[in-house]
Amino acid sequence: MENCIFCKIVSKRLPAFITYESNDVIAFLDINPINPGHTLVCTKEHFDVLTKVPEKLAQGLMTAVKDVSAKLIIKLGYQGFNILQNNDKCAGQIVPHIHFHVIPRNPDDLVRFNWSENIKRMSEEQFKETYRRLTT
Ligand code: AMP
Ligand code: ZN
Repeated sequence: MENCIFCKIVSKRLPAFITYESNDVIAFLDINPINPGHTLVCTKEHFDVLTKVPEKLAQGLMTAVKDVSAKLIIKLGYQGFNILQNNDKCAGQIVPHIHFHVIPRNPDDLVRFNWSENIKRMSEEQFKETYRRLTT
């Protein structure tokens, strides 16, 4: 993809702090980190969303996410991490080239995702209907 920022990083046309590279997957530091070490893990091939990534490649991607996460703990001394993966503009995806955010975390790092503010109340009927549609 000619104008994709992450394709440019993959082909080394754009500089990045690359911390992991395999045949199919690359990881580099996010230029706007939530915490130092915040890393983006992406497929070298361009796919816009996770559901388009072939199964075998998805496995390699998850292996890389795991490896990157472990390094943030071992090498940078973090206690935990969040994995975030946005699909589509409506879900906050800005760069339409599949990537996982690995966000390293420490106690009292003041990062807030405000999960509880977004919770929707659902009736038993709504749960049943959602479940029915997903499982039939
Ligand atoms: P998303 O909302 O999941 O699409 O997030 C895209 C992420 O890419 C943002 O966190 C940006 O800070 C990051 N980003 C954009 N351009 C670059 C770049 N050239 N190098 C590293 N990270 C980038
Ligand atoms: Zn791309």
